[in-house]
Amino acid sequence: MPEDATLTDQLRRRIAASGPISVAEYMREANAAYYAAGDPFGAGGDFVTAPEISQMFGEMVGLWLADLWIRAGRPEPVHYVELGPGRGTLAHDALRSATGFGLSPSVQLVETSAALRSAQRERLPLAEWHDSIESLPRDGPLLIVANEFFDALPVRQMIATEDGWRERMVALDGDDGFAAETGTRAVDALVPDAVRGAPVGSIYEHCPDAATILFDLLRRIAAQGGALLAIDYGYDRSGIGETLQAVKDHARAEPFADPGAVDLTAHVNFQELANIGRVAEMGVHGPVGQGRWLAMLGIVTRARTLASAAPDQRSAIAAALKRLTAPDEMGELFKVLGFTAPGWPTPEGFA
Ligand code: SAH
Repeated sequence: MPEDATLTDQLRRRIAASGPISVAEYMREANAAYYAAGDPFGAGGDFVTAPEISQMFGEMVGLWLADLWIRAGRPEPVHYVELGPGRGTLAHDALRSATGFGLSPSVQLVETSAALRSAQRERLPLAEWHDSIESLPRDGPLLIVANEFFDALPVRQMIATEDGWRERMVALDGDDGFAAETGTRAVDALVPDAVRGAPVGSIYEHCPDAATILFDLLRRIAAQGGALLAIDYGYDRSGIGETLQAVKDHARAEPFADPGAVDLTAHVNFQELANIGRVAEMGVHGPVGQGRWLAMLGIVTRARTLASAAPDQRSAIAAALKRLTAPDEMGELFKVLGFTAPGWPTPEGFA
């Protein structure tokens, strides 16, 4: 693809001129190009996300939002906000289900990819789009959903050396490639006490954009009311380990090859996100496994209803249910973390 060649050339020229770039900077450039190139979702793409597996996923999210909004006293105006909505499938299914309970919010989508915006426009013609969270409405509660959004944001990698922690950098490799190397910048202050004594060679990842975006959104919710639901794969205790990975055609690929042609993600640090919620004085709920959360919202009953309405779909529905909830599939690696504004009711799904 010509775009990929261009990004590889651009990054190589930049590194040749001013030295290696951080892993985060590399990931930011690579993912911006990757998502700008079009639609990576679904069986014919690079990976499949939960809303693309079954409508039941979005329906449970819509139910969660509607229940919370009803118990908060049905405030109006109210805004549905989604971060990185992909094809718009989750919003479409969630809003159809929420409307059934009387919740018909405005639709506000935060999306940087023009190609994905046009896919979203087909599903959600009345939505409004935002380049960043700054321009989101300020006149009512925000009901914010982020599925597989935080994992796409760039991570910094710190590596333990004999002389302390250094930032991991991306340098030139051969005539046309890239390779990670240990940089010279000391970053000990960025590594939490709990992991500081880890053995030489250990890697600690941090996602500064996730922390900033979450903190800014929680401040909005504190002022305007509302809630935020983050669903992603990740870990619930900060620690050592490299989770940066590349995916292409449903298989693992090399992270520092073909920037813009592979999807780069890193596991989400749910402990850090939850701590940000506590600092912002929000109600913090979870994280719990996606399987347990969906079960508590009633996905098993929903699957039965769908199957009896369409008996020829019975085995496809059962397979989707298993994929979304089984512990060895998406049920435990994927986690759900909820935040609620002060004074808002306790949400379903976390008890
Ligand atoms: N939520 C969707 C898609 C997840 S992929 C689903 O579950 O299917 C990540 C999404 O985040 C894409 O839509 C991508 O274009 C978007 N994205 C990535 N970085 C972004 C950023 N910094 N700001 C806004 N959107 C971003």
